[in-house]
Amino acid sequence: STPVATFCALLRAARTGLLIKGGDVLESLASIKVVAFDKTGTITRGEFSVEEFRTADERVPKQQVLYWVSSIESRSSHPMASALVDYAHFNSVEPKSENVTEFQIYPGEGIYGEIDGEGVYVGNKRILSRASCQTVPDIKDMRGVTIGYVACNKDLIGVFSLSDSCRTGSAEAIKELRSLGIKSVMLTGDSNAAATFAQNQLGNLLAEVHSELLPEDKVRIVDELKAKDGPTMMIGDGMNDAPALAKADVGVSMGVSGSAVAMETSHITLMSNDIRRIPKAIKLAKRTDWTIK
Ligand code: ADP
Ligand code: MG
Repeated sequence: STPVATFCALLRAARTGLLIKGGDVLESLASIKVVAFDKTGTITRGEFSVEEFRTADERVPKQQVLYWVSSIESRSSHPMASALVDYAHFNSVEPKSENVTEFQIYPGEGIYGEIDGEGVYVGNKRILSRASCQTVPDIKDMRGVTIGYVACNKDLIGVFSLSDSCRTGSAEAIKELRSLGIKSVMLTGDSNAAATFAQNQLGNLLAEVHSELLPEDKVRIVDELKAKDGPTMMIGDGMNDAPALAKADVGVSMGVSGSAVAMETSHITLMSNDIRRIPKAIKLAKRTDWTIK
């Protein structure tokens, strides 16, 4: 297309809250065949609430576990972190992030922190093996679909459950994509139960659901989708999505709540966090005539 047509298209997109980094991206948009969505913070709001929090070791009282967890989580920007800090607050526990002397993020697993001389791990089942924890409980009776664990000194000291809900507009966006002949899939680091819950909330619109993924698994699946189905878009918000965003033909990051690294690696940033903008942008790109160079 002519430079003027490209410029006008970019400007129109920007007015709808879509920051597109260059005319080439607009051209790639027109050919997209598959969209891979991250779950937490992309399809869902990323606004968790803690449903239940139980201690797992009678030697460590709940207030103590909550103090450790909330203090370490206050160093994290993961969507689950603020839910745990809020929950501690409700239980009259104030986090003291200044007491956290060491802090480490394990993408797709959880976090580790040292506080008052203790090393504490918080995260999903994977974090328990990192914590050399022998007891890996099979929890089936908790409300909420995402289960989290707390470990210290190779012992499980807490178990909690959280829930999150789909954004209004997620189902609509996926339907719109389908009407354009584009397949939608989900790639998440969260549990199979949480992934299935979101898929059900969406009325089973997703063609594929992949759960319990590490950042490198998301990259591998994007690669497989590219080979199997053609030009692939990946949409995500977290630092765990950044490698997959870079691998995709078009990487899209969430602008309001997304992490900085996801925004840097992506080709498009959704300033409004409204994923319904995506099918609209693809329609716009398809309307733009790319034949005359
Ligand atoms: P998603 O791909 O759905 O955005 P992530 O890769 O960010 O999920 O996280 C995967 C899982 O790792 C989460 O579902 C959670 O169980 C665990 N996790 C990650 N970060 C944290 C944290 N700060 N606190 C507790 N758990 C965490
Ligand atoms: Mg996410």
